[in-house]
Amino acid sequence: MSSQAWINLAYLIASMLFIVAFKLMSGPRTAVRGNFLGAAGMAIALAAALFEAPVQQAIAARGAWPVVLLLLAGGAGAAIGAAMALKYPMTGMPQMVALLNGFGGAASVFVAAAELWNMGTRALQSDQPGMAAFAAAELAPWTQFAIATALTGLIGAVTFWGSLVAFGKLEELPRFKKPWTDPNRHWINLALAALTLLTMAGVCANPNSFLLFLLLVVLGSLLGTTLTLPIGGADMPVVICLLNSYSGLAAAAAGFVIDNSVLVIAGSLVGASGLILTAIMCQAMNRSLVGVLFGGLGTTTVASGDEVYAGKVKSASAEEIAMVLEGADRVVIVPGYGLAVAQAQHAVRELADVLEARGTTVEYAIHPVAGRMPGHMNVLLAEADIPYEKLREMDDINPTFPETDVAIVIGANDVVNPSARNDPQSPIAGMPILDVDKARTVVVVKRSLSPGFAGIPNPLFAADNTLMYFADGKKAVLDLTAAIQKH
Ligand code: NDP
Repeated sequence: MSSQAWINLAYLIASMLFIVAFKLMSGPRTAVRGNFLGAAGMAIALAAALFEAPVQQAIAARGAWPVVLLLLAGGAGAAIGAAMALKYPMTGMPQMVALLNGFGGAASVFVAAAELWNMGTRALQSDQPGMAAFAAAELAPWTQFAIATALTGLIGAVTFWGSLVAFGKLEELPRFKKPWTDPNRHWINLALAALTLLTMAGVCANPNSFLLFLLLVVLGSLLGTTLTLPIGGADMPVVICLLNSYSGLAAAAAGFVIDNSVLVIAGSLVGASGLILTAIMCQAMNRSLVGVLFGGLGTTTVASGDEVYAGKVKSASAEEIAMVLEGADRVVIVPGYGLAVAQAQHAVRELADVLEARGTTVEYAIHPVAGRMPGHMNVLLAEADIPYEKLREMDDINPTFPETDVAIVIGANDVVNPSARNDPQSPIAGMPILDVDKARTVVVVKRSLSPGFAGIPNPLFAADNTLMYFADGKKAVLDLTAAIQKH
C-alpha cells in the first residue's frame, strides 16, 4: 500500500470516529465518551497529516525545522487551551465556546492565506496573468482552489469577528450590553454585503492577488461585526449556533483549499450540525432565521421595573415556603442560568429527594434556551445525577402547570417571563415560555429583582400567586431543604 493510501486510511478512521463522537455527544450520559473519541480522531488526523507530501517535502528541504515549528505551535495552542479551560468557570463555558468558534474561523483564514501566498508565488513564476497563470503553472484544480480560498477568507473572517462580538455580549461587557439599533444598519450591511460579493468575484478571477484576498478578509470582518452587533437578548442562542456552523463551513472550505479530505469531512460535520441546531433553536424560539438576523430590534418598548413591581412583590422566608410545600402533591422545578451561577444542582437534587420521600411528585421543566448554551440545564442536572426521565421538555410540561401545586423557579427569568405571551411590544414577544404563572403557587428564587439576559422586567415576580425568595440559589435551596426537614 502506498503511503498516501495509509494516510487516507487514517483519515477514514478519524472521520468515522468523528461521526460516532457526534452520535455519542447527543446524550448527556454518553457525551464525555463522545468527546474523548472525537479528540482521538483529531489526534489520528493530525499525526497522519505529518506524512502528507508537502510536509515531507518541507522536511526534506529544511531538515527537522518544520516539525519543530509544528510541535511548538501545537504545544503553545494546547497550553493556551488548557489554561483557558482551567481558568474559565463552568458558567463562562458559553463565552469560551464562542471564542473557540472564532479561533476556528481565524485559523481557516490563515490556512487559506498561507496557501494563497504559496500558490501565488508559484503562479508568478509563469508569465501568464490571473487564472491563466494558475492553469499554466499546472496548479490544478485551480477553480476549486480559487472559490474555496475566497469562501474561506470570507466565512472565516465573519466567524472570527462575529464570535468576538458574541463573546462580548455573553460576557455582558458594558460596551456590548445594548444591541446596535441604528436605523441605517440594514443599509450599511447591504452595502457591505454587495462590496464583499464583488471582492469575492475579484478573488475568484485573480486568485494570485493577495491584496484582493486581504480586502475580502477586511470586508468579512466588518460584516461579521455589523451583522452580530444588532442581535441581542433572547436571539443570542440562535446566533451562537449559527457562528458555530460558520466555523465548520470555514474549515470545510479550507479543506478544499489544501485538498485535505479529513478537514472537509470534519468541517462539514460541524457546519451541518450547527445548521441543524440553528433550525432547532429557531423553532424553539418561534423565530425565523431571517427575523433573527435582520429583525426589528429597537422598535419595541419596555416598561420600567418600577412600573411593573411597585407595591406588588411579596417575599417569603424559607419556613413560609416549606409550609406551602408541605401540602403539595406535585412540584415542578424550573432551572435557569442563576442555578448554574450558584452551582445549586446538587442542593436541588437533595431538595427533590426530601420532597419525594414525603410522597410529593417532583419533575423538572427544561426550556430549550435556559442558561447560556444549548443543553446547559440538561448538562447541569446530569452532573447531580438527576434521573433523565424527570427532565421534561417545554411542550410536554406546559399543559401540566395548571395541575401543579408549586412551581419552584431557581435562577430562571426570561424563560418564564409572561410578557412573551401577553405583550406584543416586548422584545421577547412570541418566544415560547414555560407557563409557570399557571401553577397554583410560584416560588421564585433569585437574589434581587434584576432582569435576566434580555434586560427586561418580569411581571411574574409581581403576580398574585408568586412568592419571591431573595437569596443566592444554593443557599436558598439548602435553607429550604433544612426548613422542610424541621417540619
Ligand atoms: P436569565 O438570564 O433570564 O436570568 C437568570 C437569573 O438568574 C437572573 O435574573 C439573576 O437574577 C439570577 N441569578 C444569577 N445568579 C444567581 C444566583 N447565584 N442565585 C440565584 N439567582 C441568580 O436566565 P434564563 O435561564 O431564564 O434565560 C436564559 C437567557 O439567556 C435567555 O434570554 C436566552 O435567550 C439567553 N441566552 C441563552 C443561550 C442558550 O443557548 N441557552 C445563549 C445566549 C443567551 P439576580 O441577579 O437577581 O439573582
